[in-house]
Amino acid sequence: MQYRFLGKTGLKVSNLCFGALTVGPLQARLSIQEGAKVIRKALEAGVNFIDTAEIYRTYPYIREAIRGYNNEVIIASKCYAYTYDGMRQSVEKALENTGRDWIDIFMLHEQESILTIKGHWEAIEYLLEAKEKGLVRAVGISTHHVEGVLGAASVPEIDVIHPLINMAGIGIRGGKTENMLRAIKVAAGAGKGLYAMKALGGGNLIDRVEEAFNFVRSISELSSVAVGMSTTDEVEYNACLFDGRPVESALKYKVKRRPRRLHVEDWCRGCGRCIEKCAQGALSIVNGKLIVDRKRCIFCGYCGAACPDFCIKVI
Ligand code: SF4
Ligand code: SF4
Repeated sequence: MQYRFLGKTGLKVSNLCFGALTVGPLQARLSIQEGAKVIRKALEAGVNFIDTAEIYRTYPYIREAIRGYNNEVIIASKCYAYTYDGMRQSVEKALENTGRDWIDIFMLHEQESILTIKGHWEAIEYLLEAKEKGLVRAVGISTHHVEGVLGAASVPEIDVIHPLINMAGIGIRGGKTENMLRAIKVAAGAGKGLYAMKALGGGNLIDRVEEAFNFVRSISELSSVAVGMSTTDEVEYNACLFDGRPVESALKYKVKRRPRRLHVEDWCRGCGRCIEKCAQGALSIVNGKLIVDRKRCIFCGYCGAACPDFCIKVI
């Protein structure tokens, strides 16, 4: 595993970051013991960086995974709080539920532009105080928006940016892949630490996994890439790819054969734009909501790429 400094934070992170959303109740719904085992496997493979969020409800999994583990683990979390008190409560909850004395990186979740960052300024003020007290080591934002990256790049108080980037541009708001790449360069030039999300476009690029990972790994401004994993085989597979080691064909086969399903987020507004992209006829709208016919879906990912709100993921 390779390790890189995350901007000017002093944190040295593995190039593969464990994206904890997938093990938890919003996606694979593993038990805490099972999910912790997957995370622990990643730590033992050299991953020292875990990305989570208050909304993912995975703090207990992380707490269990790091119990008795003696090496350094860097944890990034995020929440939607916009007030001073709201952010204080979120940081206290993260500390209590992970069992840690500090959270390395705490971020404003899903920022859209400099305007939303300014609208959350009270929350940032709390994070800056928490940083002085040693409860938080770095302050950041996560964003799907090109303008979110550019906005954060202009704010000296922000240390870390967690942008969405992938070779197909799936889920990028306010531009395409090349626009996000330019914004990432601007942010790195401003001294920000950057680590990516959604390199596989929410699972929609799963059939081109090596190409998709090679694309993000080649972006020199990124210190790490958060990848959701929900089995120990996936951990082993991804660790090989990020180490640049060949993957044994038996492991490749097991990971590719893992049962998958299409997950449609609650915020789908039933616009139907994804339906016309599905040549399998697997999608329909019922009572204003998108329904997937599991027998027809071949996980090609075309529908996910068509959704403007990034509602469809292959998990
Ligand atoms: S394009 Fe997105 S928002 Fe529209 S119906 Fe499909 S999943 Fe829902
Ligand atoms: S992943 Fe492909 S086959 Fe499945 S619903 Fe989407 S477009 Fe249709």
